[in-house]
Amino acid sequence: MEINIEYKDFTERALQVISNPEKQEQIVLAINQHEKRMKDGLNQYDKLSVVRQRAGYLKNKVINELDRYLIEFEDNFLSNGGKVIWARDANEAKIEIKKIIKKNQITRIVKSKSMVTEEISLNQTLKNAGVEVIESDTADFIAQLAGERLNHMGTPNQVYSNEEVAELLHTKLGATEHLTSLEITGFTKEYLSEKIASAEMSITGCNFLVSDIGGIAITENESNALTTMSLPKIQLIVAGIDMLIPSMENLDLFWPLLASYQVGQPVTAYNSIITGPKKEGERVGPEELILILIDNGRSNVLELEKQRQSLTCIGCGACANVCPVYKLVGGATYGTTYQGPIGAIITPFMKDFDSFKHLSYASTLCGKCDAVCPVNIPLHNLLLNNRNYAVKKGFVTSGESRRIRWMTKAMSSRKLLDMPGSTLKNMFIRFSMKKSWGNQRHLPTTAPKSFNQLLKEKS
Ligand code: SF4
Repeated sequence: MEINIEYKDFTERALQVISNPEKQEQIVLAINQHEKRMKDGLNQYDKLSVVRQRAGYLKNKVINELDRYLIEFEDNFLSNGGKVIWARDANEAKIEIKKIIKKNQITRIVKSKSMVTEEISLNQTLKNAGVEVIESDTADFIAQLAGERLNHMGTPNQVYSNEEVAELLHTKLGATEHLTSLEITGFTKEYLSEKIASAEMSITGCNFLVSDIGGIAITENESNALTTMSLPKIQLIVAGIDMLIPSMENLDLFWPLLASYQVGQPVTAYNSIITGPKKEGERVGPEELILILIDNGRSNVLELEKQRQSLTCIGCGACANVCPVYKLVGGATYGTTYQGPIGAIITPFMKDFDSFKHLSYASTLCGKCDAVCPVNIPLHNLLLNNRNYAVKKGFVTSGESRRIRWMTKAMSSRKLLDMPGSTLKNMFIRFSMKKSWGNQRHLPTTAPKSFNQLLKEKS
């Protein structure tokens, strides 16, 4: 079995970052700042472990009874006047969205932060359909201008310096050169307000689908989501089937928890619950509210008893921020929508296992991700499970299988282990592992004398 192209791309991108100390310093600085903010945000909790336990319990309850909760949610959403479209995969979702665009002759769409639309590469599809799409979240807008993927669930523009953003605005939108950060905010706000006011349709993401009220909960700091869903006539929400929580009452737990972990605040500035389109007498809001509920590989994760727990993720991005590998190589290296430990776990099942299994190996298994996760997902165990799954299903290269066979033989033979001298053993390690170990690290060497030898000499 050959090494796949995604793995090669991953290592190439990682090498590019590692060999550019300036870029890497930017990444580390941004992630460290984020980690510090998160710690400040968590100070609001006296008994954080109890809060995390409760959050984990509620999300697990939903995921374990997903069929029941999805139907309850849909019933309530429909009775509020919304429309629901179920999509098995990205293709189905995009076909339905294109139908809506065609039917309503949409030419301009404003979007607010949505990882699911990134997951299905919706922007490109809309662009191909001749529709102008504008991201209204400042960070996503900058990434869009730069033509890059979002590289973090919480802080996507972490690798752009102020100068880089000013340069982007100048070259792409004709802004004055060398804008200060305050001027960048002013320019962006004015540009986006104009676009939002003239868009015929909005596409928003969602943080939680609230089952008992059939509502959509959105939390943000810029008020761009609130504006985008208030002005255009049609609002489209694209959400994964795993985003459910049981009740509106649970928002007093999940909103502050997400805000603390994602942006280090006790609660974000704007928190909205959408229950249906504009009603008679209401001044703002969409006339038509459509929800696309998308599976796109989530059922593959759901059917695996252990891996299923990864669907309880609330998308705070904290596990990535504390991950030593993510810190070293940055989010863009992963080449996926979801990065860091959680992305490494779910992506192979949501896309193609063989092509993305290497992500499960991009981990030191230090367990920092488990320690931080607000819903107590045992991330490093799940990464190990992915590796185990890869071996069981035969997704390993023939070279790797051979090396493991040799190593097992050597490790289970007393005679081979006690072989005097270390030259031969080190030669074996070099021969069998040099290629996969890479040039950046020194291979470990065995001690000159085995433990058995030392013990004999001593006694
Ligand atoms: S796995 Fe946990 S820490 Fe990571 S993004 Fe999801 S909720 Fe946050």
